[in-house]
Parts: sequence; C-alpha cells; structure tokens
Amino acid sequence: MPFPTHDPHQAPGALKRLPLRKAAALFIVAVCLCLFGLLYLQLEQSRQQDLAVAQTSSANLTRAMAQQAEDTFLAADLVLTSLVDWIEDDGYGAAQKPRLQKTLARRVQQLEQLHGLFLFDREGQWVITSFPNLPRGNGVADREYFKFHQQNVSSVAHIGPAIRSRENGEWIIPISKRVNDHAGNFQGVLLAGIKMSYFDRFFKSFSLDDNGTMFLGLTDGTLLARRPFDEGLIGTSLAQGDIYRKLLPNASAGTAMIESVVDGVPRLYGYRQLGSYPLVVSASTSRETILEGWQARAFQSSVIVALVILGVGLFGWVFIHQVRDGERIEKNLRKAQHSLELIATHDSLTGLANRRLFERSLEIEFARGARQSSPVSLIMLDIDFFKRYNDAYGHVAGDHCLTQVAQVLKSCCQRKSDLAVRYGGEEFAVLLPDTDINGALAIAGQIRRSVMDKHITHSGSPTGYLTVSLGCYAFIPAGNDSPELFIQRADAALYQAKNAGRNRAAVVTLDGGIGELLRSDR
Ligand code: GH3
Ligand code: MG
Ligand code: MG
Repeated sequence: MPFPTHDPHQAPGALKRLPLRKAAALFIVAVCLCLFGLLYLQLEQSRQQDLAVAQTSSANLTRAMAQQAEDTFLAADLVLTSLVDWIEDDGYGAAQKPRLQKTLARRVQQLEQLHGLFLFDREGQWVITSFPNLPRGNGVADREYFKFHQQNVSSVAHIGPAIRSRENGEWIIPISKRVNDHAGNFQGVLLAGIKMSYFDRFFKSFSLDDNGTMFLGLTDGTLLARRPFDEGLIGTSLAQGDIYRKLLPNASAGTAMIESVVDGVPRLYGYRQLGSYPLVVSASTSRETILEGWQARAFQSSVIVALVILGVGLFGWVFIHQVRDGERIEKNLRKAQHSLELIATHDSLTGLANRRLFERSLEIEFARGARQSSPVSLIMLDIDFFKRYNDAYGHVAGDHCLTQVAQVLKSCCQRKSDLAVRYGGEEFAVLLPDTDINGALAIAGQIRRSVMDKHITHSGSPTGYLTVSLGCYAFIPAGNDSPELFIQRADAALYQAKNAGRNRAAVVTLDGGIGELLRSDR
C-alpha cells in the first residue's frame, strides 16, 4: 500500500496557480486589447469630428463663393440689361456713339470686376467699346457667345467660356446679351468681360492649404477660373469629374471626399450650383491637410498607449515569471517533502514500509475494519537460520538476501491496500486489510514458496536453501483494539511455525496466552 501522501496545500495550490498564470496573461491581453480598442475608438471619433468640421467649413466657403459669383455676374447683368434697353430704343447710330462710349467707360469704371464693355454689330464687328480706341481685326463672329446670340432669340444673359481679350490679352469671362431691333431681329451683341483676376483675388482672400483648390465653372463643366491659376486648364472640361457626373445630378450643393480629375489628389470638395446663372463653384481641401492635426494627435496618443502597453506587458511578463518561479519552487518543495515522507516512512535497504508507517496503517485499518466489520490479517515473517547465513556469507550478502525477500513480499502483496513492512532486522510483516485468516494463510504460503523458488543457497539450513517461517493472525476489529496484541498473536503463530520445524506458515489459537498450532500450510 503506498503511503497516503496527503498534502493539504498541493491540490488546491495546483488548481489555483495554473489558472492564475493564465488569468494574468489573459488579463494583460484584455487590458492591451481594451487600450487598443479605446485608442481606435478615440482616434476614429476625432477623425470623424475633424472631417465634419472640414465639411462645414467647406460648405460655408462654397456658399460664400456662390454668393460672390452671383453678385459679380448680377451686377454685370444689370449693366448689360440697362444698356441693351437703351441701345434697342435709341440704336447705335453715329449720333449716339459718343454718349454711348462714355456711358460704357463710366460703367466699367464703376464696376471693379469689369474688364470692359463691347458692342458688336450683326457681323461681329466692334461698334463701341469702353476703351477709347476701337480694336482692329476680323471681329468676333467666330466667338462662341456671338454665335450663341445669333442663333438664340433669348434675351437672357449668356455666360461663355473664358477667353483672352482681343483688346489687351487679359483673361476674361464673357457675359453677353443679344441686341435686337424693334422687330426683334438680331442686331448685334453687347458683351461685358469680367476679369478673371477679380475671381483670382477673391479666391486668394481665403486661407487655403497648398493642396486646396477653388474653381468657378459653367454647368456644362467648362472651367472658368481656378485657384491655383493654371492657364492650361482654363477652358478645359470638368464634365467627366465626379462633381459633374455623380454629385450635381443628385444635389445642387454638398460635400464629398473624391479624387481630383486634374491631379488625382484625394480632397474634400464642397460644391454649389448657382440658382440664377449656369455656374458652379467648388472649393476643396486635401484630406492630408484636414487630417494633419489629427495625425499629430494620433501619433501622440499612439505613442502614449504603446508605452502603457509596453509597461503593462513588462509588468505582466515579470509577474508571470514570478508566479512561474513560485510554482517551480513549490514543486521542488513538494518533491522534497515527498522524499522526506518516503525516508521517514520507508526502510532504506528494502524500500518496504517501516514500523512508523506500519503503526499508522494499523490504526487506519483497525478503524476501517471496525466500521465495515471486515477482518484484518497480519503475517509476521522471520528468516530461518539467518544468523548462520550472515556467518557463512557475510553481512553484505545478508543484506542482499533481505532485499530479495522484500521483493518477494512486494510481489505477493497484490492489493493496493496490502502493506509489506520491514519490522525488525530480518523480520517482516504483511498487513492485509479486508482479508480473513484463510486468505492470510494462502498469501503466507505463497510467500514461503516464492522465497524457496528463489533458490538462495544457504549452507546452514537443512534444506540447503534460504527459507522463511510465517505466523498468521486475523480478527474483525471492534474498536479500541490493541495493535500490540495483534502483533503479539501473529508473532506467537510465527513462534509456533519456528517450533514446528521452520519453513512453514502457521495459524494458532491462543489458549490462556499459550499458542497452539491450529493450521499450517505445510
Ligand atoms: P531462527 O530465526 O531460525 O530461529 O534463527 P536466526 O539465526 O534467524 O535467529 P534470529 O531470528 O534471532 O536471527 C537474528 C539474526 O539476523 C541476527 C543477525 O545476524 C541477523 N540480522 C538482523 N538484522 C540484520 C540486518 O539488517 N542485516 C543482516 N545482514 N543481518 C541481520
Ligand atoms: Mg529473528
Ligand atoms: Mg531468524
């Protein structure tokens, strides 16, 4: 029977500590994940906030641009309307020309945005301009606005693609009106040239990042003015861009993050189509600029969180290692304790239980036998003529002989609860719980035969081989039984076996304390 090594700390400790290490690792991972999650949420939230603020400013900016464009064209439109009314009433004969020229020049002076005012006849030749001298050349019959008014009876002002003035080469945006005679026939075109530089100045009055753009275009996509100014782009079409293709058909104003068709840079575009003129304004800020501040904050927060995670990770690493070290120390202590227990309860030569363990086991088995009313048996064993063996072969051989007998005992104790004991020098005991006297005698016989079967030569023994004598005793404990008496009775049986000639197992009845051989296995 193995010694019941009950350690009150072992099982609960093992149960507690293994999860502690896992729990610590899980906790640290969870803390790190939470920190990551919080960082992500916070950064995402502040990114959305920055984008929302940029959207509002973009919408406000395009509203201001639309208002300015509308005011600019409306003022020119009003000038054109009053002049066209006058020209249609009075004509532009030689008598009217000086006065008309002065009026045109005065109007241009009054309106900052105006480059000049030009009146063309039916053939597109200059009649009067706000400039003192009439330009020379082939006229404007080839210009888009002239052809438009020639072919359209509408009296509404027409805004055409930006052109270079034939007066002085300046970029202008033409707004023009048809001039009719009294019968409504085409008599010419009155044109106001709006300085592109006027829009340039206005665009520049806003603080915009280096990658930001602003533009004024016609509703057909023709680019009229742009910041930054790029001469090569004036007059090109933006109709294939997302603003014209996707956004304007759905809403006349809004904001969207899109890639520019011009340079491929992702920008937040605010756009607005004017109500009264076929014009579209748009302003954009590059996403990079919008998120510049956010990126700096994100970097700072990420560094802080990374440091905290590093700290938590380091702490966790140290903690887990300390727990692991503690577990290792405790495991070693448990091993040492177990070894000490083994040393304290087992015989070092044979490895069998010693008397201390035997006495403890007796108490336990007596109590169990009393509880269950089951018999407890004891076999006492003594090697025959062992003194002679020692004398003949020496003590070392004697010790070796003892270990061989111990091996026999171990092999014959098949139940877990059986306990083989080295009781004294060459005396052994076998405690057999839940075994009656017949069972004990059977095992004693088996032990005796097994020792003989070892064929350990013993010149001092009559058989020529090493033999053992065994005494058996069994009883059903009733509680408060004496272990000494139990041992004495088995010993008495052993004595009888010796007396009866050795090499036998004996059971005795005790009559008045004197053993009487009852049965023997031989
Ligand atoms: P018997 O039992 O048959 O009557 O004769 P015996 O010669 O065996 O007598 P006893 O049982 O009294 O023998 C005790 C001897 O056992 C004394 C000693 O020489 C030997 N002995 C006791 N302990 C040890 C031990 O640890 N090692 C060795 N080698 N011999 C031991
Ligand atoms: Mg003896
Ligand atoms: Mg002996």
